[in-house]
Amino acid sequence: MKKNNAIPGSGKRHKNKGKRGLAIILSGLLLMLMLGAFSCAQAPAPRDEPSPNGQAEDPEREERDGKTPKEREGPTEEQEKQEAARGEIPPAVLEQTPNELGEFMVLMYHEIGHPESEWVRTPDNFRRDLETLYERGYRAVNLIDAVQGNIDIPAGTSPVVLTFDDGNRGNFYFIEENGEPVIDPDCAVGILLDFYEENPDFGLAGTFYIFYPNPFRQPEYVEEKLQFLVEKGFEIGNHTHGHQNLARISPEGVRRELALHVRETQKYIPGYEVQSLALPYGAYPANRELVVKGSYDGIDYRNEAVLLVGANPAPSPFHQEFDPLRLPRVRASEMKTEGVGMYDWLERFEENPRRRYVSDGDPRYVTAPESLKESLDESGLEEKTVRFYKE
Ligand SMILES: [Zn+2]
Repeated sequence: MKKNNAIPGSGKRHKNKGKRGLAIILSGLLLMLMLGAFSCAQAPAPRDEPSPNGQAEDPEREERDGKTPKEREGPTEEQEKQEAARGEIPPAVLEQTPNELGEFMVLMYHEIGHPESEWVRTPDNFRRDLETLYERGYRAVNLIDAVQGNIDIPAGTSPVVLTFDDGNRGNFYFIEENGEPVIDPDCAVGILLDFYEENPDFGLAGTFYIFYPNPFRQPEYVEEKLQFLVEKGFEIGNHTHGHQNLARISPEGVRRELALHVRETQKYIPGYEVQSLALPYGAYPANRELVVKGSYDGIDYRNEAVLLVGANPAPSPFHQEFDPLRLPRVRASEMKTEGVGMYDWLERFEENPRRRYVSDGDPRYVTAPESLKESLDESGLEEKTVRFYKE
C-alpha cells in the first residue's frame, strides 16, 4: 500500500519507516569507535549510492542545492568516513551553525483568493509569503517527512511546512483555456508550481486537508486533481469526512468521520495512505486516542500527526517536547494575528536565531549545539547519528 505514496517522477523520497523502534545511535562517537575498528558498515554512503534505507538518492538533489556534482564533491569518501568515525562535523557544515533541535513552522492557510481577510490570502500575498520564506532560507518539506525527521534540505536552510485547510476553490482550481481545463495560475497549486519552476531549490511540497463531498469545489475534477497532487509530491490529509467538530459527536461518529475520509480519498487515489489529520476547529474528541487510529465499517485509519490550529512553531522532531499528535501551526496571515502570525515568527527567528531549526544538509545526521544536548529525544533517531558541537 505504501508504494502508492511514492510519486512517480517527482523525485521525492518518501520514507516509510516510523521514527520509533529503530536503532539509536548516540553522539556517533562511542559507536563509531567500536565499529571503526572492525568495519565501515556504519560509515556514510557516498552521495551517488542508495541511501541507507535502500532507496535511490533524490535525482533532483542537484537542482535543489544548486550545485554541480563537481562543486558538491567536497571531502573524499575516505575523509568522510574518518570524520564520521570521529563524530566530527565538516567545517563547511559547522559554518552554517546547524541546529536540528530548533523549532520549525507548520503554516496554516485556508483560502487563496479575494479579498484578503483573516482566513483568505490573496494570490499576490501568497506569492510574497513564498518569496519571503525563500529569501530567508526556508525550504518547503512535506508534513510527514518533517514529523518523521526526514528533512532533506541544504545545510544552513530551515524547513517550512505549508498546509491548506478545507479544500477551498482557491487551493486548486481549473479554468478553461481554448476549451481545455488548465490550472488557474492564481490558485495555491498554480502559484506553488510556478514558484517551484523559478526556484527549484525551494522544493515542491504542501499538504491539503480536504473534506468531502466536494474538495476544491469542482465535482467533475475531483479525481483528476487528487491524482495530480499526489503525482507532484503533495500530500492529502484528513480533515474529517464532513468537516465535523469532533468534540461534539459520539465516539462512533468520530471513527466514522475519519474512516469515511480515508475511504473516499482511496476511491480517487487507490491505495493512498492518509497519514495526518488537521482537526476542524482545532477540536479534539473527549477520547483523544480516537484520532490516532481506529476503524469503522471495515475501513482502518491511522494518523501519524494531528495538527492543531495553534499559534506557535513546532519543536524539532528530535526534541523531547515534540509531540506529533499535538502539532501546533502558525497562521499564515497578516490580519488579527495577535503577534503570533507567520511574519511575527519570522521576525522572532531573526531576533533569536538559536530558536530556529537549521539543517546540517544531511538527513543521516542530527546536528545541534552542545548547549541543547539535554533536550534531545533519544528514542526517535532511526539510524541517525547525533553530533553536538561547542559554540
Ligand atoms: Zn476546516
